[in-house]
Amino acid sequence: MDTCSRCRAEMARTDAVGLNPVTTNLCPRCVDYFELQEVADICQYLENLPAPILVVDGDGVVRGANTQACKAVSKDLPHILNLHGGDVFECAYAQLPGGCGRTVHCSGCTIRRAILDTLSTGTPLSGISVEVLQNVKGKDRKVTFQISTQRLANCVLLQIEGGL
Ligand SMILES: [Zn+2]
Repeated sequence: MDTCSRCRAEMARTDAVGLNPVTTNLCPRCVDYFELQEVADICQYLENLPAPILVVDGDGVVRGANTQACKAVSKDLPHILNLHGGDVFECAYAQLPGGCGRTVHCSGCTIRRAILDTLSTGTPLSGISVEVLQNVKGKDRKVTFQISTQRLANCVLLQIEGGL
């Protein structure tokens, strides 16, 4: 048996709508609950989860983050909220004209593809390796980490695994 990570109800493993069994395991009732709630409620719930998680909408804009996610990207919440994912991750391409999601490089972005896939199909993805070319204060560097995605309400929960 699994336990819902929000209401603690026990449920059969097959009922779980999971991002990553270690992190989130929502029962169908709680998934319905979040469909009706604001992002603020989702963020409050994320605080109790043992992993860095960002809330990203269909435009690739970050709508929320838990404290662990803020630490993972070394930014405080006001410097994350309402920015595009590429700006939060300091992607070098996000600094080009057009910005995150609108440059010629963006169609190949693994993070963007995973978010859009999960949003359109509802299928969670787990342990996807990504490589981001960052530009921090004029210096390029490549970072690799892993992401998992799960749709919740009209957003995607983006879990970051491994160092940025
Ligand atoms: Zn539940």
